[in-house]
Amino acid sequence: MFTPADERIHPQLRINSYGHYLRRRFGCRISKVNVDAGFTCPNRDGSKGSGGCIYCNNVSFSPKGTQAIVPIESQMSSGMAYHRLRLGSEKFIIYFQKYTNTYGSVELLSDLYRRALDHPDVIGISVGTRPDALSAEALELLTDIARTKYVCLELGLQSMDDTILSRINRGHTLDDFVQTVRRAAGRQFDICAHLIYGFPGESAADFLKTAELMAGLPIDSLKLHQLHAVEGTELAELFRQGAFTPLTLEEYVSTVADFLELLPPRIAIQRLYGSAPLDICVAPQWGLKNNQMWFAIVNELTGRGSWQGRRVVE
Ligand code: SF4
Repeated sequence: MFTPADERIHPQLRINSYGHYLRRRFGCRISKVNVDAGFTCPNRDGSKGSGGCIYCNNVSFSPKGTQAIVPIESQMSSGMAYHRLRLGSEKFIIYFQKYTNTYGSVELLSDLYRRALDHPDVIGISVGTRPDALSAEALELLTDIARTKYVCLELGLQSMDDTILSRINRGHTLDDFVQTVRRAAGRQFDICAHLIYGFPGESAADFLKTAELMAGLPIDSLKLHQLHAVEGTELAELFRQGAFTPLTLEEYVSTVADFLELLPPRIAIQRLYGSAPLDICVAPQWGLKNNQMWFAIVNELTGRGSWQGRRVVE
């Protein structure tokens, strides 16, 4: 039986999983419940860019049943009922996921966030956004909420390479991300970074440098997934033209294990896989469920006799 020296590393999973982190922090099982609050994205509506990121089809990001036309209270109650029944969750974090969830007036944001927090079983909110869409007022609002509730700010970086960011039409730079992390740090809320591995022209060695970047920033958790093409995106067209070659499952699992070895144990892992509904998934088609990817990566770490942070140089 593996006994980690760092208590943040789960003995079976060999990583600091976010579920494990939440249980340590709040003492019970907590689930994230997604809501669609009807936001759009400045990289789609023309204010920062148009067309969006080349892989973006928000249908693939969201679980069934979240729709902006349904009041967030109804979305919350069906999501909470599902997680209570399936996982026995006792408390919930409401995840404002779809598009850019700080892209609105501070009055609108305040109304939405506080409505989510009104439910007695909701301990906090998680807010997904872009690094170039966080106004000073939105930051102050999140800071104020974090005085009494859990708050996680989820910032999309995707790649630390500005050439890749430009090629995928992200509409922001690495520096935008770093500056926003620094503005958001020290405010008593968590910061989560979103990353993708497998961009055209990116080597494993290039991607692994991201672990060092994360280690040097005040990041509390991260989400990583493979680049995958879904219907209705420019990336799907590139795949069909032969200009995007997806990673193999073996390449992905092996490089993610390398990445985790280089990542400090303090950074909790929220996600290591992205899946899309079968009817819109173009490539790669690994056919794995989320928990099967977790096990593939855990097995890789176990086979190596390794764990998150094993190769971190203090
Ligand atoms: S920032 Fe997010 S929502 Fe906006 S285009 Fe890119 S992936 Fe889509």
